[in-house]
Amino acid sequence: MLCLTLTERTIAEDLSCIERNRGYVDLVELRLDALDPNELEKAKSFPDCTDKPVILTFRRKADGGLREVDEKSRLKTLCDILHGNFAYVDVEGDVKKSELRWEEDGQKADFEAAMKRRGVRIIRSFHDFGGVPDDIFSRIARLASHGDIAKVAVTPKSIMDVITLFKIKDEMKEVKDKIIIGMGQYGVCTRILYKRIGSLLSFCCDKASQVGQLDARAMKELYRADRLDERTHVYGIIGNPVMHTSSPRIQNPGFHAIHYNAVYVPFLVDNVRSFFMLAEMIHIYGFSVTVPFKMQVLPYLGKITREVKQIGACNTVTRIGGMWKGTNTDYYGFLSPISDEIERGDIRSALVIGSGGAARAVTFALRNHDVKVTIVNRTLEHARTLSRATMCGYDSLDHINNYSGKVDLVVQTTSVGMSPDEKSDASQGFHFTGEEIAYDLVYKPRETVFLQRAEQAGCRTISGAKMLLGQGMLQFEAFTGYHYPPGIDPEV
Ligand code: NAP
Repeated sequence: MLCLTLTERTIAEDLSCIERNRGYVDLVELRLDALDPNELEKAKSFPDCTDKPVILTFRRKADGGLREVDEKSRLKTLCDILHGNFAYVDVEGDVKKSELRWEEDGQKADFEAAMKRRGVRIIRSFHDFGGVPDDIFSRIARLASHGDIAKVAVTPKSIMDVITLFKIKDEMKEVKDKIIIGMGQYGVCTRILYKRIGSLLSFCCDKASQVGQLDARAMKELYRADRLDERTHVYGIIGNPVMHTSSPRIQNPGFHAIHYNAVYVPFLVDNVRSFFMLAEMIHIYGFSVTVPFKMQVLPYLGKITREVKQIGACNTVTRIGGMWKGTNTDYYGFLSPISDEIERGDIRSALVIGSGGAARAVTFALRNHDVKVTIVNRTLEHARTLSRATMCGYDSLDHINNYSGKVDLVVQTTSVGMSPDEKSDASQGFHFTGEEIAYDLVYKPRETVFLQRAEQAGCRTISGAKMLLGQGMLQFEAFTGYHYPPGIDPEV
């Protein structure tokens, strides 16, 4: 089940939030701590205004609640409002039964017995914003003994913590109904793969505004989280940072279009070795690799292609038999928009701005196609190192103007000009004649200052979005054995 958390300030806004996400979620959680105090009196009748089952929660400030309320009045308000037709109530695990004062017809009654009579399931919850406690398994067992459903919301800080969460399903089989939430960026993979960690449901929101949150539409349509099962093949992308990646928007719609029961998930990774442990444990079928792990994955690969060996970097890992195979689709992804010109011999010379990881793939790709390359870079030493490996010329970025009018292709491979630094341009001294092809590897924004200047001069321009899509489509082929399906326009 997917549950929409409602954290608007008014009941009316919460109801319109449900309307916006109606098709994506199975139930909703009404957060009393988010409501303006004068809205609370309307909350009792809230379940009558929607056809979705409602979880009632009044979160304590210390557990992530949005306002400070003294404990007695918090529990009193929760119990008063709970007289409405709620399906679930969330009560923190450390709240004693005696603190939950329940009255029916002016008479005191036992809280748990009353909830049972009314068909309300009690969720007993525990929150940890600092990490994953060592005793998480026994905590789940304790919470389960005090309610119908045990809920732990914890904050993994490493892939080893994520591994702990993936162990819960097998280790805690005796606790049938439990909710497990991995908060923060490391937790994102556990939210999408919530069934794999044994969680009854996963929470999502209207518009993701905090790190680690996922919006309801992405959960339902992009990741199809509620339809993933034991047979789903898991793929992903590893990086640090990684949450900005557009790759899930390339791979997941492709899987969907070919009716492949698979999902592609972002994994924030702190340590490559632990990720390979996780990949074995949950049987990941393949993954993309981004900064800073393109070289660090190499020792774990049983097989690599010629390009990976030459470039010394791998951006795609697939499971072949009992081993991991590394390929580099940046190489071919870069070439795909200019392959006709290269074949015709229209590109004989190129200027590569930058000498980082991307420049390495670009320079090898061009050199392997007999293009004469000069590398210009801010740090001359880095340019020299790459030029030696690729047998190219090199120069300081300060001398870039010397190459105006002398090359067929200019490739901008630095991160300069990338959002939010959109006004910058590493090629400032270079004057376009209109004859060159200008190719920027930056894909956000699509129209960088570098490309705008080239376009104004009459050049053909190529955005990094084309390369991103090209390398992503090749990864899709490596993962599935199928060409990327036509008719999809991924939002990269
Ligand atoms: P990297 O290894 O960190 O290299 C960064 C390069 O940028 C270095 O040459 C560095 O020069 C230069 N640089 C950084 N800041 C600079 C500045 N203020 N002025 C001048 N030069 C500067 O990064 P990378 O992996 O190569 O990635 C570079 C860019 O390519 C990123 O924007 C990335 O998103 C993009 N990329 C796009 C695709 C795609 O599919 N479109 C694929 C891969 C990468 P120094 O040597 O002096 O530090």
